[in-house]
Amino acid sequence: MDFDLTAGQRRLRDEVVAFAREELGHDVADHDRDGSFPRQDWRRCAEFGVLGWPVPEEYGGRGLDPLTTMVALEALGYGCRDNGLVFAVNNHLWGCVIHLLLHGTPEQKAAYLPALCAGTLIGAQALTEPEAGSDLLGLTTAAQRDGDGYRLHGTKCFISNGPVADVFVTLARTGGAGGPQNQLSAFLVTADMPGVVKKHELSKMGLRTTPMGIVEFDGTPVPAANLLGREGAGYAVFTSSIEWERSFMFASHVGAMERLLETSVRQANSRRQFGRSIGSFQAVSHQIADMKIRLELARTLLYRVGWLKREGRLALLEATMAKIVISEGLVQTAMGAAEVHGARGYLTDEGIERELRDALGGPVYAGTNAVQRGILAELVGVRNALSGGEGR
Ligand SMILES: Cc1cc2nc3c(=O)[nH]c(=O)nc-3n(C[C@H](O)[C@H](O)[C@H](O)COP(=O)(O)OP(=O)(O)OC[C@H]3O[C@@H](n4cnc5c(N)ncnc54)[C@H](O)[C@@H]3O)c2cc1C
Repeated sequence: MDFDLTAGQRRLRDEVVAFAREELGHDVADHDRDGSFPRQDWRRCAEFGVLGWPVPEEYGGRGLDPLTTMVALEALGYGCRDNGLVFAVNNHLWGCVIHLLLHGTPEQKAAYLPALCAGTLIGAQALTEPEAGSDLLGLTTAAQRDGDGYRLHGTKCFISNGPVADVFVTLARTGGAGGPQNQLSAFLVTADMPGVVKKHELSKMGLRTTPMGIVEFDGTPVPAANLLGREGAGYAVFTSSIEWERSFMFASHVGAMERLLETSVRQANSRRQFGRSIGSFQAVSHQIADMKIRLELARTLLYRVGWLKREGRLALLEATMAKIVISEGLVQTAMGAAEVHGARGYLTDEGIERELRDALGGPVYAGTNAVQRGILAELVGVRNALSGGEGR
């Protein structure tokens, strides 16, 4: 068992951290206040190659293996103070690009991946509906056969990148025989197709630099060539990528945990009260010790998933655990950082309160942690309401 990064991974990590610190997130406070997308930083990410890290070189990517991709994403989350920008990148990669990598035809890959890697196309995943959140199989967006293709009718909500996205991976009901899991199909829908209406941006508590919106398909004609996988395989397409979404999406959170730990250590050593550094008080130093424990637990689980995926193995159990541990660990660490900073942790200028607001979404997106715990219990043998894998 080797827990060391390779020399190449360490070098990449250093390069990504330097890039993220120097080039990204300088206007994060303004973008956070306005809820605006930092498009220039997005372009910088594209130029640096971030948007193509897991994509083979033949499609314009860097062709990093899964574990190395995780190391790079963790470094991005560590170096970049704009968690919303990083979340936009992760939605692009693990909500859209991954589906093309796993299920795209050679034609679909050639048509979309180079521009997605170059950042000229922005990707999003449009699954959730007003009446179908955790209960994804309850979605009502319909794809009716129309000549050679389909017509989509339905409304998707809470779509990260939605207002700026050019390519949506979506699920719609095509019906047919078999159980509910065989009645959905996955489609690539582009924003310029007729009847695609980006309805409005949703204002949210955190990750405010990732635009989020409602997307309506109002009789959108979608060619059969835009099916991802075969008709009726939509749920399988979705489930085959959830390991990636539940773990790779959270690699950058581990970087953010380390950044918050370091900020808190600096504060513990520099802030003096009662004639001593506050770190000399056990209440403060234990808070920081717990941050370190959470960070290392999160990282160990994360790298285990990266290693399993690099070996081409299933990692559903590990990815589900990673999602829970990392998302909750980041919330606790951000709360700890706020506490260690006293009033400064509460002030907008210092950025700690933004870190906390950003962290609070993690237990909800990519499947709520309550549902993840149900899935986990089922994976270790408990028969429950999610038996049959129907939750998301
Ligand atoms: C920041 C952010 C970004 C998002 N980005 C996207 C995106 O890009 N694309 C997209 O499609 N969606 C996105 N979502 C939506 C997200 O996937 C849903 O919010 C999530 O699946 C939960 O659905 P819901 O909000 O409708 O909550 P509900 O499903 O209504 O759940 C409400 C509560 O009930 C609990 N609950 C529900 N069912 C069960 C169960 N079986 N067992 C135990 N508890 C249960 C939940 O845990 C939760 O506490 C995003 C959400 C957030 C917060």
